[in-house]
Amino acid sequence: GLTPLLLMTLLAMIFGIHMVLAIGGADMPVVISMLNSYSGWAAAATGFMLSNDLLIVVGALVGSSGAILSYIMCRAMNRRFLSVILGGFGTTGVAKGPTEQGEVTALTGSETALLLKSASSVIVVPGYGMAVAHAQHSVSSVVALLRDKGINARFAIHPVAGRMPGHMNVLLAEAKVPYDIVLEMDEINNEFPDTDAVLVIGANDIVNPAAQTEPDSPIAGMPVLEVWKSGTVIVMKRSMATGYAGVDNPLFYRDNTRMLFGDAKASVE
Ligand code: NDP
Repeated sequence: GLTPLLLMTLLAMIFGIHMVLAIGGADMPVVISMLNSYSGWAAAATGFMLSNDLLIVVGALVGSSGAILSYIMCRAMNRRFLSVILGGFGTTGVAKGPTEQGEVTALTGSETALLLKSASSVIVVPGYGMAVAHAQHSVSSVVALLRDKGINARFAIHPVAGRMPGHMNVLLAEAKVPYDIVLEMDEINNEFPDTDAVLVIGANDIVNPAAQTEPDSPIAGMPVLEVWKSGTVIVMKRSMATGYAGVDNPLFYRDNTRMLFGDAKASVE
């Protein structure tokens, strides 16, 4: 039975690679959790073959929790589950060239501090870079400092910020940030126009206005945090590199955006 087994493995590999390659960058989190779900169903099927009740139950748990998670992520990203799985066929899903070029304005750490001190409301948008830099404790201290000065500082959490659902919430909880100042996207998105300064810490795709303005963008249709509507946006990242979806971010070239280049932890400190 070795030959059919190897042949089946090869076919499954080709099918897997072909299916995933066709899916656009921004839809990848859904695919990852969907593949998790498949592994659960495969384990459950193996349980039936081996008459192993434990394997069936555990497989069904993994399979159904993965399916629920995929559904929740699809909803958060304004995608239909079927169109994520099937819709990628025929499209390349690779990044297009830069969508918008222009000058970026860089700030220094002390200029950022002055700007924050003169604000009366501040929103912090954490992303994957904050997790990589382990900056959550320093960010938490900065926000506590601002709040002690009477500045209304809060956090805005995008449902797919970071690399797993709830990633930012877990990091902020670890850094002892009070829950009542950590707000979900839907709760805070309409407060950006009334906010003086927004600190975007290691986030990119989740604050990309191209999701709303460019129908051809791989992230088109994904809800984003509308940080550009605030007074000043300070983006902390190391370079002009793209985020997970591999698309350029026109936010960086806006008049009210300032870049604070460097490792997120060093910059925040
Ligand atoms: P992004 O991946 O879009 O951007 C992260 C940014 O952080 C990068 O542009 C990078 O820029 C910067 N960065 C990296 N390291 C550092 C560092 N040490 N210091 C400062 N900046 C740093 O992250 P977002 O959180 O904005 O968006 C999440 C993305 O991940 C979405 O596209 C989402 O679809 C996807 N995703 C989400 C999952 C989830 O379940 N949450 C699962 C899988 C994927 P630079 O290199 O210039 O520093």
